[in-house]
Amino acid sequence: MSNKQPTGFVLYQGPSMLDGAPIVAIATGFARRSSNAKTGDMVQTYIIRADVAPTEAAKTGQDVSVCGDCKQRPANGGACYVTLMHGPLSVFKGHQRGIYPVAQDAESIAALGDGRMVRLGTYGDPAAVPAWVWQSLVSRAVGRTGYTHQWRNEALPVAHRDALRALVMASADNLEEAQEARAKGMRYFRIRLATEPLQAREFVCPASEEAGKRTDCASCGACNGTQREAQASPVIVVHGSKARRFEAQRAT
Ligand code: SF4
Repeated sequence: MSNKQPTGFVLYQGPSMLDGAPIVAIATGFARRSSNAKTGDMVQTYIIRADVAPTEAAKTGQDVSVCGDCKQRPANGGACYVTLMHGPLSVFKGHQRGIYPVAQDAESIAALGDGRMVRLGTYGDPAAVPAWVWQSLVSRAVGRTGYTHQWRNEALPVAHRDALRALVMASADNLEEAQEARAKGMRYFRIRLATEPLQAREFVCPASEEAGKRTDCASCGACNGTQREAQASPVIVVHGSKARRFEAQRAT
């Protein structure tokens, strides 16, 4: 029998909270610590279709099960920053090969996050997974970051939305969405163009290019949902080819 430590664990397998299709949530970053420059060393979590490769699901639109109606999906011509060929596809293939043991209950999930920084939704929207899974994973963690584009999705149960609100930030793709999120009592993470100014109770993400990449998410941890409504919200300037798509989408 191999004594090799698993690189990841299945946190959840079952119906998507968004559309009922089969999905799986997998946490990675155990045998090897993650080396993502922006996030630093964090437990990463992938929310993917259980039955369709993420690259394929993005083409067919079946990624709606894990991303909901997010306008940054490739099917919507969006500027999603996740490279599906890397993390999401390799995690899907690993799951197909059966390399990830299943964390059997809330206690086993809590043990995975114990003493670590945790990123909820490295790929996929945390809203697709029952909130108790995330609540367990972060219960003994040092901190967390996470984002949801589903904060306006009224088809989701109110209790689920309330639980998510405490755990993750509302993703805001423009000022109007940011203002709406704040009016609903949520902190947000706003994407802006370089020409758009900072607003009151906002700060520049310290891991951004414009802030000189002076820290990473593991050290910052500010994107941890709404504990206190008065807390400021981070903003980031969209860069490079994503900026062109983002601008084009804004124009439409
Ligand atoms: S504000 Fe902090 S936690 Fe949020 S994305 Fe920037 S560095 Fe990461």
